[in-house]
Amino acid sequence: MSTCPVTKSEIPAAFGGRPVFETPLRFITPTLPDLDGVLQAYAPAYACGLITNGAIVERFEHAAAEYLRVRHCVAVSSCTSGLMLVLRALDLTGEVVLPSFTFFATGHAALWNRLRPVFADSEPDTWNIDPADVERKITGRTAAIIGVHVYGNPCDAGRLTEIAARRGLKLIFDAAHAFGSLHGDCPVGGSGDAEVFSLSPTKTLVAGEGGVVATNDALLARRLRAARNYGDSGSYDCDLLGLNARMPEFNAALALAGILLTETKIGRLNQIAAAYRAELGRLPGVLFQCVRPDDRSTWKDFSIWLDAGRGCPPDELAAALRAENVETRRYFHPPLHRQRLYRHFCTYAVPNAERISDGILSLPIYPSLADEQVQGVCAAIRRFAEYRSERGRAADV
Ligand SMILES: *Cc1c(COP(=O)(O)O)cnc(C)c1O
Repeated sequence: MSTCPVTKSEIPAAFGGRPVFETPLRFITPTLPDLDGVLQAYAPAYACGLITNGAIVERFEHAAAEYLRVRHCVAVSSCTSGLMLVLRALDLTGEVVLPSFTFFATGHAALWNRLRPVFADSEPDTWNIDPADVERKITGRTAAIIGVHVYGNPCDAGRLTEIAARRGLKLIFDAAHAFGSLHGDCPVGGSGDAEVFSLSPTKTLVAGEGGVVATNDALLARRLRAARNYGDSGSYDCDLLGLNARMPEFNAALALAGILLTETKIGRLNQIAAAYRAELGRLPGVLFQCVRPDDRSTWKDFSIWLDAGRGCPPDELAAALRAENVETRRYFHPPLHRQRLYRHFCTYAVPNAERISDGILSLPIYPSLADEQVQGVCAAIRRFAEYRSERGRAADV
């Protein structure tokens, strides 16, 4: 798995040069806790045969609530099921305002509840849901707003809270990327009716598969505990249509150990993000997501935005990086309102979301990515951009 840069030759691999990386540099590698410790914590559950939704899940819920500084955490099988169940437990009907520049699971949760998605535009700098456009998209049928902390960059929960209160709406956050995000000194997780985190392998806190709902609403927490267990609150006569969305004990043991790694992980991700910005900031036509000065992002993803008019299109750079043995993704492209399941809901323009999505390219970022590997990715981008613009100039004369 040696993926150290081997050459700094000026010719990009896409044009016949030697690839910067000898072997593929993965887009994501989860940082996992020491297995022996996890197995030790798991062994008692295994020994007594209580291997799902038991004592370890409960310990994880307490640890998560303490970390996030919220009253209640309810562990579930995924962020998607958590979002689905929160919308269900809140008994919503009608429309939900959510961003188009997000992962499709945000929208799926609404569709599973037969709620009509209404797409709010994104802020051009933070790439998060734009509260001013949320306000414009509210109608008499609106039941709720879903905010998303894109890549772990805290969205404007303050303004969304104010709007939701004034218009009498529920407010939910898809916090899939945000375990460890800070707004000022305060962990992201305590706003709105609920915030839902993902614990899948690509996220900052990993349970294998899993999610956690954070809420300060005791009644909602109680309903969610029933909802994740088919809707049964113990009477064997469900008053809520639930799912089996329980978290297995092994996953909880992973997450519980993972919480202890979070601060170090996020520190490293912030270092890598800073290195990318320093190295790529001088390239013409490359822009970055803006994090407000008092906030800390998890940098669950690091995406660059390429101005098609000045630099090269993201798909072309992605292909060039593939030739250099660098894996990339395009989070999130296309935006929700242009996807098959969603486009018939959208009869209006969502210009910022389109613009951001059209230029987006996500680069590898994870704690085990070494400084030299970050430099290698940057060298690969730089030499392709330079070569391409020189060829463009040559073609002009
Ligand atoms: C990953 C992700 C989800 C889904 O999380 P799962 O735990 O895989 O269900 C939801 N929303 C966003 C923004 C995500 O990135």
